Amino acid sequence: MKRLEGKNVLITGGSTGIGRATAIRFADEGANVAINYRSSEKEAEITLDEVRETCNSIREKGCREMLVQGDVASEEDVERIFQDVLKAWGRLDVLINNAGIQTANPTHETAMDAYDRVLAVNLRGAFLCSREAVRHFLDRGGGGVILNNTSVHETIPKPQYAPYAASKAGLGALSRTLALEYAGQGIRVNMVAPGAIATPINREWMDDPEKKADVEGHIPMGRAGEPEEIAAVFAFLASDEAAYITGQTIYVDGGLTLYPDFRTPWSSGS
Ligand code: NAD
Repeated sequence: MKRLEGKNVLITGGSTGIGRATAIRFADEGANVAINYRSSEKEAEITLDEVRETCNSIREKGCREMLVQGDVASEEDVERIFQDVLKAWGRLDVLINNAGIQTANPTHETAMDAYDRVLAVNLRGAFLCSREAVRHFLDRGGGGVILNNTSVHETIPKPQYAPYAASKAGLGALSRTLALEYAGQGIRVNMVAPGAIATPINREWMDDPEKKADVEGHIPMGRAGEPEEIAAVFAFLASDEAAYITGQTIYVDGGLTLYPDFRTPWSSGS
């Protein structure tokens, strides 16, 4: 028995990086996966093919996959995304708010449109999708699962990335609030907080051996994480094995939240 067999799952920003790995992992666990993408249909088609390939091995069990275009920051798009998924499948069991962007700039030089866009995708987008999911879960009864991709910057400050850090801390607060608000209706809301993961969002340092070594030097486990290592935690949290977990963040970060500067007892004068 696959842990997610027959579950209908929507993953935002699901065509690349962690979203892509999660789509493949969920299909492998028996879920039907709807992959939301914003702009590149070609990129999304490639991921859809990979998911389909995974699905094909368990097709007789009814594994299905679909693409659904839309900008999560747009209320109109989000309503259409949910209409498309529900029209095709009639039911949604799991929403994964994964879409996210970041911009780097000293705060005093940050333009308001850059700030607004990061908040619009990372926080407003998650709010809009969660609101649609909760409406559906309440309508059909029986609960549901919302999983949010935050970041270690849900708690660790990130100079020059103030909009990103604010959006991820906000997403943590939003998630815990929804978890409390709807626990009585069987809706579980949890977060996965990745550290530095080898995905397109980190192209800037991943493709430069010197910068990569610098990043990895800050990570207690000495390496960047793989998107599949995040997908595995999403799969656990979506499954009934996590039936009694709500409002929690699981940090998947190779030890980044362990105050790495305290690896040596520098502060004790030894
Ligand atoms: P990524 O750039 O591959 O993924 C982000 C996805 O979101 C892309 O597919 C992008 O097209 C999509 N997206 C952007 N704006 C959108 C919008 N308005 N509507 C719909 N989709 C949109 O990088 P990733 O690392 O896989 O990022 C996925 C999530 O993981 C993000 O929320 C990111 O903040 C979070 N995260 C990543 C890391 C890391 O080190 N890679 C660390 C912590 C958190």
